[in-house]
Amino acid sequence: MTQENAHVSDSSTSDVHAFMEGLRKRNPHQDEFIQAVEEVAENVFDFVANKPEYQDAEIMRRIAEPDRIVSFRVCWQDDEGRVRVERGWRVQNNNAIGPYKGGLRFHESVNESVLKFLAFEQTFKNALTGLPMGGGKGGSNFNPKGKSDAEIMRFCQSFMTELYRHIGPDVDVPAGDIGVGAREIGFLFGQYKRIRNEWHGVLTGKGLEYGGSPVRTESTGYGVVYFLREMLREEDRELDGMSAVISGAGNVATHAAEKFAELGGKVLTLSDSKGFIHDPDGIDAKKVAWIRQQKSSGGSLSDYPEQFSGSEWHEGKKPWSVGCDIALPCATQNELDIDAAKSLIDNEVLAVCEGANMPTTADASHALRSNGVLLGPGKAANAGGVAVSGLEMSQNAGRRTWSEDRLQEELCSIMKDIHRTCVEHGEGTGPACEEGECKIDYVKGANVGGFKKVADAMLAFGVV
Ligand code: NDP
Repeated sequence: MTQENAHVSDSSTSDVHAFMEGLRKRNPHQDEFIQAVEEVAENVFDFVANKPEYQDAEIMRRIAEPDRIVSFRVCWQDDEGRVRVERGWRVQNNNAIGPYKGGLRFHESVNESVLKFLAFEQTFKNALTGLPMGGGKGGSNFNPKGKSDAEIMRFCQSFMTELYRHIGPDVDVPAGDIGVGAREIGFLFGQYKRIRNEWHGVLTGKGLEYGGSPVRTESTGYGVVYFLREMLREEDRELDGMSAVISGAGNVATHAAEKFAELGGKVLTLSDSKGFIHDPDGIDAKKVAWIRQQKSSGGSLSDYPEQFSGSEWHEGKKPWSVGCDIALPCATQNELDIDAAKSLIDNEVLAVCEGANMPTTADASHALRSNGVLLGPGKAANAGGVAVSGLEMSQNAGRRTWSEDRLQEELCSIMKDIHRTCVEHGEGTGPACEEGECKIDYVKGANVGGFKKVADAMLAFGVV
C-alpha cells in the first residue's frame, strides 16, 4: 500500500489500482484527466467498498467516461485577412441531475485532456451546489491575447456556428472560464440568437442588459472566501486579521482578494503568468481596481510598485514562498506543486482554499493534508460561480431578475451548504489522521458528497 492511500482499505486500494490501470490504457497521454479521476477514485472506491449497488452498476467507470465529446474546426480571418484555423471542443460529461453545465476556456494550453478533466470535476462540483446541473466543459486552443475586438468577435461567431448544434437551455448551458469573459459571452450569445432566432438562457455570465444575473461576475471569488470562512469557523477561528497569498489576477483572484480584504484580512500578493506582486501593506479594493484596469487595458502588473510604494514585483516567480496564514490559488491547474507546498508548510499556513480548478498537484495535496493544513478543493470552494449561473438559468426561465441582495444571500447560503456536505463526508478521515492530527478531509468530503448525488440519480435510470 502506498503512503498516499494508506487510509484506504486493502480491497478498495486494489480496486483503485485496477480501475486506474484501465483508465490509463483507455486515455493515453491525458495526464490532467487521469490526475483528476485518480484523486476522486481513491475516495469513491473507499466509500462504495461495502455498497454493492454502486459497484455492480459500475457507476465510477460510467462517470469517468464522458457521455460524448464534440470536436470541431474553427476557421476565422484575422485583421490582415489571413485565414486562421483552431480547434474547438465541447465535452458533455454527465447529465444525470440536469442539463450539462460548465464554462468555455480559450487558451493556447487547451486540449482534450484539459477539457475532460474540467468536465469531470464540474460534474461533482455542480452536484455539490444542490442545483439541477450536469457537468460539461468546452473551449478552444485559440489564444485571445493581443487580438483585436473584431478578431475576437469573428472567432466567437465561428466557434458558435458549430457549437449551437450541441447546446440549448435544457441540453447544455456553457459559461465563461479562462479567456472567456463578458465580451466573449456577448459575441457568442449574439451569434447563437442570430442562428436560432430564439432568445433563451443558453449561456450564463451574460450582461445584465440581456438576461445576466446580478452577482455572477463576483460569485466565484466571493464564494471561495465564504467557503474559507466556514472552514476557519469549523476550527473556531475567524478570517479577520489573517493574511493571504493569492495567485492570479483574473476574475476569480481579484474578487477573492476584494472579499478577503473586505472581511478584515490582508492580501499580500496577486500574480499573473509573468510574475507576482508582493505588497506588505495589503492589496485593498482600490488597489484591486487598479489591477483590473491594468489587466483589461493590456498593461503589466510589473508597474504596480510605481503606483504603490513599499511593494515589489517578482518577475517569473510564484507567490507561495511569502509567509501567510492562508493561500488561495486562483490562476490555473497544477500551479501549486510540492516545492510550493513545502514552503507553505514551513511557513505554518493554516489553510489552502482553491479558487482555480485543480491548482494543487497530487503530491502537494497529500503533503499539505498530511501536515495538518486544511485543503478546500476547487470543486467545493469555487462552486459559487456555477451556483449563481444555475440561478441565472432559473431567472431566465422565469423571465425575472432577482435583486442583488437576494443573490448575495443565496450565494452565501449555498457555500455554507456545500461546506456542510464536505464536513459530513470528510470528518474523522484523511491523511492527517495517520499522523494523529485528524482534520476534516475536505477533498474526500467533496468527492464523496458530489459522487453520491450523481450516483443515486444514475441508479434510478438503470443501465443507460
Ligand atoms: P481569467 O482568465 O480571468 O484569469 C486567469 C488568471 O490566471 C490570469 O491572471 C492569468 O495570467 C493567470 N494564468 C492563466 N494561466 C496561467 C499559467 N499557466 N501560469 C500562471 N498564471 C496563469 O480566469 P478566471 O479567473 O476566470 O479563472 C481562473 C481559474 O478559476 C481557472 O482554473 C478556472 O477554471 C477557475 N474557475 C473560474 C470560474 C469563473 O467563474 N470564472 C468558476 C470556477 C473556476 P495572464 O493574465 O498573464 O494570462
